[in-house]
Amino acid sequence: MLDDLKQKYNLEFKADEPLAAYTTFKIGGPAKYFIEVKDKDELKRALLAAKENSLAYFMLGGGSNILISDDGFDGLVIRLISGTCRFETDGSAVCFAGNNWAKFVRDAIGQGFGGLDFSGNIPGTVGGAVRGNAGAYGQGVGDFVAEVLAVDLAASDDFVHLSHADCHFDYRESVFKRQTGLIVAEVAFKLTPSEKSKEELLQAIEAEGQSRCAKQPLKYPSAGCSFKNVVYTDELSAYKDWETHGKIPAARFIEAAGLKGKQIGGAKVSDEHANFIINVDHATASDVIQLISLIKMKVRDQYGVQLEEEIQYVGF
Ligand SMILES: Cc1cc2nc3c(=O)[nH]c(=O)nc-3n(C[C@H](O)[C@H](O)[C@H](O)COP(=O)(O)OP(=O)(O)OC[C@H]3O[C@@H](n4cnc5c(N)ncnc54)[C@H](O)[C@@H]3O)c2cc1C
Repeated sequence: MLDDLKQKYNLEFKADEPLAAYTTFKIGGPAKYFIEVKDKDELKRALLAAKENSLAYFMLGGGSNILISDDGFDGLVIRLISGTCRFETDGSAVCFAGNNWAKFVRDAIGQGFGGLDFSGNIPGTVGGAVRGNAGAYGQGVGDFVAEVLAVDLAASDDFVHLSHADCHFDYRESVFKRQTGLIVAEVAFKLTPSEKSKEELLQAIEAEGQSRCAKQPLKYPSAGCSFKNVVYTDELSAYKDWETHGKIPAARFIEAAGLKGKQIGGAKVSDEHANFIINVDHATASDVIQLISLIKMKVRDQYGVQLEEEIQYVGF
C-alpha cells in the first residue's frame, strides 16, 4: 500500500509515524500513514490519496490545539509545513496554510503592516489559526482574512475560493471547523500600513510574550487553553465581575471549583492558569480525557455551566 501511494501520488508517504513529537502536548500514538506537504498542489494530491483509497485523514498544523489518542490515528495524517508567503505593497499577503503563524505576523510587521500584533505569540500555523479563528484580547485573526483558497473534498475535490463572508468567522469558529471537508490551502490577508514603527510593534509582541510566560505554564507541554471561554449572558449575572470582552474566562470556573493543581496520572490542571492542562509526567491521552471529564462535571454541577473543549480530539 505504501509503495502504491508513493508511486501514484508522487509524495513521500511514511507508515507508522509517531505523532507525539508533532504536538505541543507531546502526547499521542502513531499515524498509520503520514505525509508532509509544503504547497497547495501537494496538499490536494495528499487529500485525493486519502479519498481515493478510503483512508480517514487528519490535517495537522503546528499541533498546538489537539489531543491525539494513545492509539494514534488509523488513517492518513497530512502535516502542513512552511511554504511560501507573498506580500504586496497594497497590503495583501497570500500564504500557504503551513506557514508558522507567529513568523507570518513578524514578517507582516517587517513589511510595514500592523494590526496582527495581538496574535504574535499564538503557536501554530496559518491554516490552524484561520480554521479556529485564533485570537486574544477580544480579537480574532479572521478579521484580517480577505479570501481563502480551500480544497473542497466534500464536493468538487478541487480548489474553491471563499470570501471573508463565506468563512463565517465567529469566536473560535469558522466554516472550516463546521465543514470538515473544506481544507484551508492558502489564505489571502488584507493588511493595513501600521502607524507605529516596526520596533514598537515587535517590542509590544515581546512584552506580550513575557506576560504570557508570567501567567501561563509554558515550561510544560500543553495544548494551550483546554476550554473555550464562556459567553456572558444575563443568566451568569452572579459572575459579572469575572466578565471580560463579553466572556467569562473558563479558568475562573475551574479555579473556583477547586481544581487548580488536580492531577490524574501525568496530566495536571496548572497551578498558574487553571484553563491549561499540562503534561507534567509522561501523561497519556487517557489521563487528559479523565481530567477534562472531571472538570466539566464539577463546573456543571457547581455553576450550571457546560464547558466546551477548545482543543480538538484526534483518533478517539
Ligand atoms: C502555549 C499555547 C498558547 C496558546 N495561546 C492561544 C491564544 O492565545 N489564542 C488562541 O486562539 N489559541 C491559542 N493556542 C491554541 C493554538 O495555538 C491555536 O488554536 C492555533 O491556531 C492552532 O494552530 P495549529 O496549526 O497548531 O493547529 P493544530 O493544533 O495542528 O490543529 C488544530 C485543528 O485545526 C485543523 N487544521 C489545521 N490546519 C488546517 C488546515 N489547513 N485546514 C483545515 N483544518 C486545519 C486540525 O485538523 C485540527 O482540527 C495556544 C496553544 C498553546 C500550546
